[in-house]
Amino acid sequence: MPVSAPVGVGLDSAAVRARMVQRLVSAGISSPLVLQAMGAVERHRFVDSALVNQAYEDTSLPIGLGQTISKPSIVARMAELLLGAEIARESGVLGRVLEIGTGCGYQAAVLSRLAREVYSMERLRGLHDRARVNLRPLHLMNVHLMLGDGMLGYPKGAPYAGIIAAAGGASLPTDWCDQLAIGGRLVAPTVVAGGQQVLLVVDKTAHGLKQSVLESVHFVPLKSGIA
Ligand code: SAH
Repeated sequence: MPVSAPVGVGLDSAAVRARMVQRLVSAGISSPLVLQAMGAVERHRFVDSALVNQAYEDTSLPIGLGQTISKPSIVARMAELLLGAEIARESGVLGRVLEIGTGCGYQAAVLSRLAREVYSMERLRGLHDRARVNLRPLHLMNVHLMLGDGMLGYPKGAPYAGIIAAAGGASLPTDWCDQLAIGGRLVAPTVVAGGQQVLLVVDKTAHGLKQSVLESVHFVPLKSGIA
């Protein structure tokens, strides 16, 4: 018997995605660039075949090795925040972006449509390899996958217009702020006093760093070293 397309996301996956994009609009996402990217990247190709039917629900899903793909609304929210970097507002595009936590590669594919170059780092070899397999058919020439400890950033690609973390630590690694361009923006989940994890936005200006604390979030922990 031929392998059939997954129910609900086969030939009509564009329609399912369009509905997801409508929900993102209702949830307050307004950047046309972000909505376009979310409508274009096929999220069902990044999750396990058993989870394909949930790929366009607004939910995080397991991607193996105890990690999760973030829910679409948080990917869109963080991407929109990144586009709000002063350096992007001036030129209309993001230059180089560093992503910490490639996971299955989904967010990297979304970012590839918003930035000139995407450097994405993953500390787990199994997921780094999986992302490579997931992204290969998309031929995204501007996505560079690296195996390494993202807590140290990736100095070779610096300075970055944007840095985005998909894992949350107890504090922001200083290397990230150092590797940010003037006018660049960092968006990262971080645990604050009281143990709550929140979304932090750090803007680097000519006069120093400006930090904003946004809504509470639930990301997997940022860990050091390669495994
Ligand atoms: N953006 C991903 C989400 C992955 S979940 C996606 O679209 O699928 C977060 C990822 O961060 C996990 O894969 C985890 O292994 C990774 N991670 C945690 N600490 C890290 C570190 N110090 N350096 C690189 N990756 C890290």
